[in-house]
Amino acid sequence: MDHEYYMGLALELARQAAEHGDVPVGCVIVKDGQVIGRGRNRREERGDATAHAELEAIRDACARTGSWRLHGCTLYVTLEPCPMCAGGIINSRVDTVRYGTRDEKAGCCASVLNLFEERFNHRPRIYRGPLERECEAVLQNFFEDLRGRPEWTPQKKI
Ligand SMILES: [Zn+2]
Repeated sequence: MDHEYYMGLALELARQAAEHGDVPVGCVIVKDGQVIGRGRNRREERGDATAHAELEAIRDACARTGSWRLHGCTLYVTLEPCPMCAGGIINSRVDTVRYGTRDEKAGCCASVLNLFEERFNHRPRIYRGPLERECEAVLQNFFEDLRGRPEWTPQKKI
């Protein structure tokens, strides 16, 4: 399996999120070499606190496969999952998670805590990378651009 290729697809979705004014996070779900789910952060676009990339990708994959069980799937996401998305990963039984860069404020694979080490009924395998630097850079560029804009105020900071 070409991890860089699939993380690259997730990065492409992250860039699309930024084009729509959303914090750039992208996600793809892969099974047997096929991309079966895609998602990008649409929180601002939809005005929906739950419109995170991972949940969008999980919904997409469930709709395509007709099953809520995503056994045999690997989820690639550019940013470490938050508690809500970690919950979605546990509930959908995704086998493996690969995340790009750490989220010190909300990450639930290592940073704030590791939800996947707790006594839930499903424990996916977690890996960091590949393309950590690229995943971090897309976020840094987004926030640098935001700070450069005259309409930006600290209240809007995410
Ligand atoms: Zn999330």
